[in-house]
Amino acid sequence: MVREAVDRVELVLPDGRTIDYAIQVSPKARSLRLKLSARDGMVVVAPPNLDRQKLVALVTAKGDWIGERIAGFDAVRHLIPTEPVARPQTFDLPALAEFWRVEYKPTRSRTVGARIDPPGRIVVAGAVDDVEACHAALRRWLARHATVTLSRWLANLAEPADLRYTDLAIKNQRTRWGSCSTTGRISLNCKLLFLSRDLVRYVIWHELCHLLERNHSERFWMHLRHSEPAADSLHGRMRDAWKAVPSWAQRGAGLVL
Ligand SMILES: [Zn+2]
Repeated sequence: MVREAVDRVELVLPDGRTIDYAIQVSPKARSLRLKLSARDGMVVVAPPNLDRQKLVALVTAKGDWIGERIAGFDAVRHLIPTEPVARPQTFDLPALAEFWRVEYKPTRSRTVGARIDPPGRIVVAGAVDDVEACHAALRRWLARHATVTLSRWLANLAEPADLRYTDLAIKNQRTRWGSCSTTGRISLNCKLLFLSRDLVRYVIWHELCHLLERNHSERFWMHLRHSEPAADSLHGRMRDAWKAVPSWAQRGAGLVL
């Protein structure tokens, strides 16, 4: 399994409000640090060796302080420039070396759909004033596009190596780039298409090697380095990979203060 570096956790404040925060593991962090910003909401920067349960307990204990800080943000919210929620006009899929232009066509339909209108153009049609519905339609398009392209990519790497998986599922997971079940079912995150080719290849090899070793033991890494000699440096680069994903492609964005 390859996890995205960012993990979101829900926190119930003493006043009953619920917010969610991101955990960012930093090798440089010596202790827990809380950051609040208009753009990223609440981010907890944690040292790598702190276990998650302890981290959540420490953050929860700071609930009062966090509540006050958020109230402070609320009071000045109108002064904070927020990122406009916009429908993307263009986007890149570096994994496939593709550039897409997006056109929005209002129709009488109550729903929104996205389809390719070649070359290099996606037409989003329907109730396109609904920005979230447009984002959802584009996410469905992304999943369909990933199903076609990633299944080919997976097969092209697996077959010559004689690695047999039972099935491929394309998902839009929040915290996983990929996984491999005990029955040999591989799942890949459709957001991989926003990453560079070498990172996608790394994730595919990573999951394929789980067909040989279910764990992250030294034997697993031996297989992985054999298939992908740059595995260690690519693994390190996965930490920041989520930054390449545009916000519209993320399901259910967290609270933005
Ligand atoms: Zn793994």
